Amino acid sequence: MISSMYFQICSLFYMLMLVFVYFSKPRFTSEENRIYILMVISNVIGLILDISSIFTIINMDKMPILNIVITKLYLIYLLLWVSLFTLYTLLVCNKDKTEKSLKKRKIIMKVFFILFIVFSIILFILPLNYYNQNNAIYSYGISANISYIIGGIYILISIISVIKNFSNIKKIKCIPLIAYLIMFPLILSIQLVMPSILLVTATESFITFLMYFTIENPDIKLINELNMAKDQADKANQAKSDFLSSMSHEIRTPLNAIVGFSQALSEEDLPESAKEEVQDIIMASNGLLEIVNGILDISKIESGKIEIVNSEYDFKEIFNNLVSLTKARMGESVLDFRTHYDDSIPAILYGDHTRVKQVILNILTNAIKYTKEGYVDFRVSSIIKDDICRLIISVEDTGIGIKEENIDKLFSKFERFDIDKNITIEGTGLGLAITKKLVELMNGKIVVQSIYGKGSKFTISIDQRIIKKEVVKAPEILEEKAPEHIDASNKRVLIVDDNKINLKVAARLLQNYHVITEEVESGFACLEKIEQGQVYDLILMDDMMPKMSGIDTLKKLKEMPNFNTKVIALTANAISGMKEKYLKEGFDDYLAKPIDRQELNKIVAKYLSM
Ligand code: ADP
Repeated sequence: MISSMYFQICSLFYMLMLVFVYFSKPRFTSEENRIYILMVISNVIGLILDISSIFTIINMDKMPILNIVITKLYLIYLLLWVSLFTLYTLLVCNKDKTEKSLKKRKIIMKVFFILFIVFSIILFILPLNYYNQNNAIYSYGISANISYIIGGIYILISIISVIKNFSNIKKIKCIPLIAYLIMFPLILSIQLVMPSILLVTATESFITFLMYFTIENPDIKLINELNMAKDQADKANQAKSDFLSSMSHEIRTPLNAIVGFSQALSEEDLPESAKEEVQDIIMASNGLLEIVNGILDISKIESGKIEIVNSEYDFKEIFNNLVSLTKARMGESVLDFRTHYDDSIPAILYGDHTRVKQVILNILTNAIKYTKEGYVDFRVSSIIKDDICRLIISVEDTGIGIKEENIDKLFSKFERFDIDKNITIEGTGLGLAITKKLVELMNGKIVVQSIYGKGSKFTISIDQRIIKKEVVKAPEILEEKAPEHIDASNKRVLIVDDNKINLKVAARLLQNYHVITEEVESGFACLEKIEQGQVYDLILMDDMMPKMSGIDTLKKLKEMPNFNTKVIALTANAISGMKEKYLKEGFDDYLAKPIDRQELNKIVAKYLSM
């Protein structure tokens, strides 16, 4: 009798060891692991039932009811194991995490559970016979046959599912199934010839044991440590971003005063030498502003906080704007600045025009920075397919060029080349790193061709959606109006800012339009003025004020009856998408600090000019 139990006893021994190993280590509670745990536990119980059934069949006469219960429970175990094995295979075949797949998996689990209950009842009710002769002990009959048929069907489902999803599953996961397919016909044949050897449960134990090595078993302790380290790194990164953001704000506030007052001074009747010096102050502060913006941009890109804000825009307006900005940056340069765009480019496109402009301006600025003589050729062509327009923007120069070995490093941050030659050229080495990241965020590409000493060509391609195809006449480059040509005399403007110097700068810049300005240092004071019945033609409102922000003040203003004054957000918070944010909050327009004279001109002309 004991000879027919050798395999079960051995199996029970190593399965108990497996249980010990499996539960001694913390694990993730994945679906895969949950089913596996059930398989291991059912396997151990199955082995105990198998061994016990040998005893009860031998002593059938003494304990008939116990024998029936144990042998039927054993059949139910067989059913449970094969159901779990099939479920496990189905799960491995479909690792899709979409909501639809998750729902489907839940339904399959429920179906399997219901089938298991129904089949268990059937197996329990149907009769079972027992054989106990010539040293062979086993059970047979309808109940046993049905359990084999159901098992066969389940295994067939597993095979079909594996074949159908073969390309998606990890091959190691197929090993237990293949082992099962080879071993089962084999053990059934052995059992036919030698019925005294009971091998089914032992084989299932072996398969369960094999599966242990195919289950992903990440070290949960290590993962927790990694997660903690990641959290810390995220926090540090956040602290860095917050610091950079507030630093940018802090630097911008004094810069606002420097740029604003120098701007106002440059418009005064000053001696020629003083005028030049004031221009130098403006240039130096603008350079500083660009550095602050660059650092802020790169920190936002690195913390994944930069967003592409798409909207409709007039391509030609952007092009002309870029041309006039570049010309202004060229100053006295003798470079031949050639520009061209294809007439076929659709009039209105959809994309992030602020970022498109930023990346083109970056490569245009580099071209004029690193070219002493010759030309800079700026051209834009397009490839149109359905409603997509691929803009191909190229900037070619006859400048100093880039050495071949440096091309690869060109887009890394803080990389600058030929420092000895370029010592007089200002730059941080951030421009191209930002450009590349932004182009990639817009799903575009940037490539560089360069011959050292001869020149370089930067080409950017970006897809934009077409909104309107008709080619409208390109708007003329706006003649920049001097403030004295914008007549806003006697208009009343209220400036709200908690910083006294900022108030002074804004008031000083507005002086040139002959407007009447009033200044208050808080949102509360602004509300008070309106409550008192003061009427203004425009309000310039800083957002970042203590106690009551500009946004909160605006909300309160809008609640007031008959309030319909236009309110412009005035902020040193130069994060991209800010304009859109403030417009959404209900502001009529947006002015970034340091206040740019041209931008202020536009605002005054739009809201105060008669
Ligand atoms: P920056 O110009 O602020 O130094 P960039 O990231 O824009 O930083 O450029 C990185 C480096 O690439 C520059 O310092 C320069 O050496 C080189 N470079 C960029 N554009 C050109 C160009 N058109 N011609 C020659 N060298 C260039």
